[in-house]
Amino acid sequence: MWSFWIVCKALEVSARVERDVTMKTRLARFPFVKTLDQFDFSFQPALNEAQIRELAAARFVAHGENILLLGPPGVGKTHLAVSLGVAAILQGISVVFFTVADLVDLVQQDVKEDRLDRRLHALCTPKLLILDEMGYVPLDQRSAQFLFRLISRRYQKGSIILTSNKSYGEWGDVVSDYVLATAMLDRLLHYSTTINIRGESYRLREKRRAGVFHDLTAKPVKAGPSASRKTQGAGAIEADSRYDGL
Ligand code: ADP
Ligand code: MG
Repeated sequence: MWSFWIVCKALEVSARVERDVTMKTRLARFPFVKTLDQFDFSFQPALNEAQIRELAAARFVAHGENILLLGPPGVGKTHLAVSLGVAAILQGISVVFFTVADLVDLVQQDVKEDRLDRRLHALCTPKLLILDEMGYVPLDQRSAQFLFRLISRRYQKGSIILTSNKSYGEWGDVVSDYVLATAMLDRLLHYSTTINIRGESYRLREKRRAGVFHDLTAKPVKAGPSASRKTQGAGAIEADSRYDGL
């Protein structure tokens, strides 16, 4: 009789957890839901799987640390960001996903409707904010300033996972303001892990195999191994600006 009660209680809890996970996943607004188990690490052999799995334990969220995923298109930055977000949700952490382009659109809309401060507050509420695709669209001055305020407000309080196809040295061009770019990076990188993925595009692997596609952007330099770096304290930018990009 007691064991039946215990099982029922356990089921009740898991049903509640399941509802919570479903709700949090909906609120996160992921573009797709994929897990780390769906990530083929053998396709990116230079990526440190143990390190990524360690990040999936979401301890970085408890410490308000950030993760920066850098690399060219198709190497799995969004997949990894979403997977880490899903892993965080499974541990009861609230997550919100935005592309930087979405953010630019929202800022333009919010300025018209005079609700930029409310937006800032809303984006500071989730424990983990995923900002995808920094660098694909240039940021106008207002969006760049909003992004800076967002990063500053979340500094050491709420984690950010940011993905980008741009090296840190190129951020000045993305936000058209080198001082602001430096200030953003200063806060983002202070307590952070940078994962630099330099492998091939997963999207193009089949086409490449079939000989349909050849890389028009390929540089004559040999691709080096993927690298990751944990930064903490002063000197983060100096260290990371040596990232040689794409
Ligand atoms: P990026 O954000 O770097 O441009 P994505 O994460 O969007 O790349 O990956 C493109 C597509 O390829 C997605 O459908 C993603 O799930 C898949 N993908 C990328 N890398 C891998 C991988 N190593 N294993 C499995 N699927 C992958
Ligand atoms: Mg992407």
